[in-house]
Amino acid sequence: MSYVDEVIEQITKENPGEPEFHQTLNEVYKSIEVVVDANEEQYRKDALLERLANPERQIKFRVPWVDDEGQVQVNTGYRVQFNSAIGPYKGGLRFHPSVNIGIIKFLGFEQIFKNSLTGLPIGGGKGGSNFDPKGKSDREVMAFCQSFMNELYRHIGQDQDVPAGDIGVGGREIGYLYGQYKRLTKQYEGVLTGKGLTYGGSLARTEATGYGLLYFTREVLKANGESLDGKTVTVSGSGNVATYAIEKAQQLGANVVTASDSTGWVYDPEGIDVALLKDIKEVRRLRMSDYAAEKPSAEYHEGKGVWSVEADVALPCATQNEVDIDDAKNIVSNNYFALVEGANMPTTLEATKYLQDNGVVFGPAKAANAGGVAVSALEMSQNSERLHWTFEEVDNKLANIMQNIFKQIEDSCNKYEQGNDYVAGANIAGFEKVAEAMQAQGIV
Ligand code: NDP
Repeated sequence: MSYVDEVIEQITKENPGEPEFHQTLNEVYKSIEVVVDANEEQYRKDALLERLANPERQIKFRVPWVDDEGQVQVNTGYRVQFNSAIGPYKGGLRFHPSVNIGIIKFLGFEQIFKNSLTGLPIGGGKGGSNFDPKGKSDREVMAFCQSFMNELYRHIGQDQDVPAGDIGVGGREIGYLYGQYKRLTKQYEGVLTGKGLTYGGSLARTEATGYGLLYFTREVLKANGESLDGKTVTVSGSGNVATYAIEKAQQLGANVVTASDSTGWVYDPEGIDVALLKDIKEVRRLRMSDYAAEKPSAEYHEGKGVWSVEADVALPCATQNEVDIDDAKNIVSNNYFALVEGANMPTTLEATKYLQDNGVVFGPAKAANAGGVAVSALEMSQNSERLHWTFEEVDNKLANIMQNIFKQIEDSCNKYEQGNDYVAGANIAGFEKVAEAMQAQGIV
């Protein structure tokens, strides 16, 4: 058995009941096998793959809070500090009922390589809770966030661990978390990113993941002789990533015809109206069914179905494993040219393989959606120097970072003869830097 297979088997056995973590471990380790084989003796001796797959630290805590009826509720909070070889832990917080330790570990593991690809000095971490902000009053969300921070503040700091948003954690939640951190510690420091512009946030952070996804997609298409101009694009999700992906795709000349949420999806052949989408989702906090009710050209469908629509480029921007093998078959039979992942691990392993085997150009999440964390790191820089950069300055830096990420991937693909397998290219490029830093720092 190869060293990679041995470690996958061992880590899977030691961490039962964590299917999403096992899935990403498989994806990453199998695709870096060519590098591991070339360094097997040293890596085995140093147990490099075992160390990398074990978080440096994982914290689990209770989060009690009082709802509007006076009832005490108890949720579970997590922070996984996965790897600090190249910088302080950095990664978002997810508030969603599905959150458990396996999901946080999958996200934290992915984050190590994503952060490495950005070229910025940030390690990998992730956290969250099974709390569901949907349907809660602002006061309830505040009570939860304050209680969550009452424990989390002990473990984070601007040079230790810098959380940000993710599913269910947007500007409102970051504000409440930051206020409580400041109250507890007396520190006005860049300990969270995604902050509001009046208290240390960076311009273009809100747009960064979606815009970055499109800057990356532009590079992918260019390298394969295509461009976004005049293309039809399907997007899933209607949250932060989806909204700004749609906005930038339209700016780059594409027609985006779908958006979705967890209850249904919209097909709008005239193109999604971003101003209406923002008003519905960000301001009024309503559903995609309300979008369809207010936009005459849009059709609303219950359940899943975005990938049944004919288009050129698919951008899944909702959640993990939303593109399964049936969706992949639809995408192939509808002659899509490319699928580029906006969400984290939105494509199952089986679907990814099917798409790649059938010639759909595939852009992996850890590269394609790295724009969010990259601008978070730029927010940290601005906080440290107590300055604000203009929108254009941040946006230009973001575009350069996404271009460089694609270049690193292409270089790795060429160096290890992986063709245009960008999954392998991204994993190898991200891994090599972290591995070198870990080796240099001894057995810690
Ligand atoms: P949001 O909470 O803003 O939006 C999530 C969207 O996905 C909503 O439309 C939501 O619908 C939908 N969704 C969530 N869970 C499910 C589900 N189980 N089934 C179907 N639809 C679902 O989150 P973000 O836009 O921030 O995050 C989306 C993805 O992008 C996640 O995978 C996240 O990890 C990833 N990501 C986010 C970054 C960021 O900067 N925000 C950075 C990098 C990656 P509904 O409203 O019905 O729940």
